[in-house]
Amino acid sequence: MKKAESKLSLCIALIAIILFASIPLWHIDLNSARTQTHVVKKKKTKKREIHQVTWGYPFKRLYEKKIKFKSGQKFGQTDVIRRYYPTKSYFHDGYDLGFSEVGHSTVYAVHAGTVHRVKYAPSLGLYVWVISDDGYVEIYQEGFLSITDIYVKKGQKVKLGQKIGKLTGSHIHLGITKTDKDYIDKKHDHTPCKYYWKDNGTWLNPMKIIENDLRKAGKDPIQ
Ligand SMILES: [Zn+2]
Repeated sequence: MKKAESKLSLCIALIAIILFASIPLWHIDLNSARTQTHVVKKKKTKKREIHQVTWGYPFKRLYEKKIKFKSGQKFGQTDVIRRYYPTKSYFHDGYDLGFSEVGHSTVYAVHAGTVHRVKYAPSLGLYVWVISDDGYVEIYQEGFLSITDIYVKKGQKVKLGQKIGKLTGSHIHLGITKTDKDYIDKKHDHTPCKYYWKDNGTWLNPMKIIENDLRKAGKDPIQ
């Protein structure tokens, strides 16, 4: 009996030692479990970050109501012949916003950047050429009848939504490209319109860029 009792107490003592010795292990486990939960929580918060809008429409009216663009030429292939030689081309290198849809109203910067040039060219009319820090280029052309319709000057920094000028012509043509593309026509006064007839990747769809950005921010684009 005594032997059995001592064996039992030895067993109990051993179990107690093992349990006691393993306390730090539980502690580590609990701590690591806590750390993991913390990491997971952190990841979740990151996902919920609000997308900062960096692009916007050039006219306020585009935010206010759904506008169907019927009269102006959209970006890409159109039914208007824009060049006959050496081959016929139906490619439109920008997006036309007509006064019948947006009114003779203020033109706002669609993206932040620095005004590279304000000038007149026979094919572009008076135009505003903006270069952005992130490598995009915006060209506002054909919409300004007088130099007084343009509110910015060369070298000026413009913010998204800043007033560029006022549409006084029949429409404004908004062109967007990247600085890493060959978009400058060096033969014609270095105007920003090289390959205006050719869909070779130089010109990007302005509405797509603007609306993709608005969509990321949970806003409702017009199209
Ligand atoms: Zn156009």
